[in-house]
Amino acid sequence: MNRVAITGASGRMGRTLVRLLQNHDELVLTQASDRHDSPAIDRDAGFLDNLPDTGVTVARELDAQQLDTVIDFTHPTALSDHVSFCRRHNKALMVGTTGLGDSELDLLKAAGEDICVVLAANTSVGVNLCASLAATAAEVIGPVTDIEIVESHHRHKVDAPSGTALYLGQSIADVLGKDLKRDGVYQRHGQTGERPDGSIGFSTIRGGDIAGEHTVMFIGENERIEITHRATDRVIFARGALRAAEWVTRKQLKGEKGFFGMREVLGLN
Ligand code: NAD
Repeated sequence: MNRVAITGASGRMGRTLVRLLQNHDELVLTQASDRHDSPAIDRDAGFLDNLPDTGVTVARELDAQQLDTVIDFTHPTALSDHVSFCRRHNKALMVGTTGLGDSELDLLKAAGEDICVVLAANTSVGVNLCASLAATAAEVIGPVTDIEIVESHHRHKVDAPSGTALYLGQSIADVLGKDLKRDGVYQRHGQTGERPDGSIGFSTIRGGDIAGEHTVMFIGENERIEITHRATDRVIFARGALRAAEWVTRKQLKGEKGFFGMREVLGLN
């Protein structure tokens, strides 16, 4: 079994990861940490999710002797400490934290020169598969169809379009040589004029408790192709993160290094 540390252990993702690790074939939870003022410090990692004792106490710092890989779903401000820790102690790193700036991205890429790093803003296997399918569809029919992306989320979401919708759009834009800043259409109201040729449209629905739905449409003459992903629970992100952690740990233990994304983890083109 390979040994995993969860940072941000009291967070929504951290708790889900701790829960999934209780019954995992390849990974075992040996360390958990959280921010210095977290109420979880010095408690068992299972405490916040009402799990039976995991035998792992949430600490302020990680112990390098007790882990092979760090999984980070925290906050951009926490990242640099976790990156330097992994680099210093030659440990693999799986990062799911979003909202990273250029400096954090540079830090992660630089770490890939010494250790194995996976960065994934969306760890869902299904979403990454949809991005790959959308890229393939764009290659074949992109130039002769109108491309629209529709996303729906719960009423509490504060940003639009979702990061996942933008990720799907970027996967298509990369294939077609487009720039979302120039070719993305994010609002339509009033006298919009005709649809600009070659644009990628984004539409947003907000309501209730929708966990997250994304549909990419390739709309042509007399036919329409749709690729849809529907999430019903955030556990899909945790499952994908553990798959990435398994992959990156195996690579690190073989002495490899590099900076990777979910496409490499899942073997998608
Ligand atoms: P959360 O707010 O529930 O949990 C964040 C955790 O990080 C908490 O335990 C908090 O104490 C800890 N933390 C915050 N600042 C810290 C610091 N400076 N040092 C150490 N620990 C710190 O959030 P969440 O919903 O669990 O999401 C966490 C991150 O993961 C966010 O960036 C979120 O956008 C991202 N996320 C990514 C995916 C994905 O698929 N990659 C999926 C869900 C969430």
